[in-house]
Parts: sequence; structure tokens; C-alpha cells
Amino acid sequence: MLKFVLLIVVVLVLLWLLRGKRRSVAPPPGPARESGGSRPVVACAQCGVHLPRDEALPGRGGVFCGEAHRAEYERSHPAA
Ligand SMILES: [Zn+2]
Repeated sequence: MLKFVLLIVVVLVLLWLLRGKRRSVAPPPGPARESGGSRPVVACAQCGVHLPRDEALPGRGGVFCGEAHRAEYERSHPAA
């Protein structure tokens, strides 16, 4: 019985340590509620990642998360 309780305590401590470590390494990006409502979000045409429209780069064939993906996309989709 004592071993069982000890095991539970060890597991709880491990979970707590893992959670604390993860939080300190990469803080989860919380929803920006204080900026007033939801910002329009678009998907990068190259990798599909979602990002705010005002941060997206417009290009031929859609919008992109960065200059590299715009160049990549335009390289793989040459204009006719
Ligand atoms: Zn991208």
C-alpha cells in the first residue's frame, strides 16, 4: 500500500516537472483576446500554416507566411 502511494506521488511529481519544463521552454501562444476580437486569419499557400492576414505576404497564387515560401511556391508554380 505504501509503495502504491509512493508510486502515485512519483508520477504526480514527474507530471508536474514535465509541465513546468514545457511551460518554461515554449510558452503556448494564448489567444490574443485583449487586442479586440478575432483578427482575420489566412493560410499560407505553400505550407498551409495559419497566420494573421496583416502578417501574410501576398503573392502569385495566394498569400504566404514568408518570403521563402513565396519564392518556393512561385518556383514550383511557374507562370504560364
Ligand atoms: Zn508557409
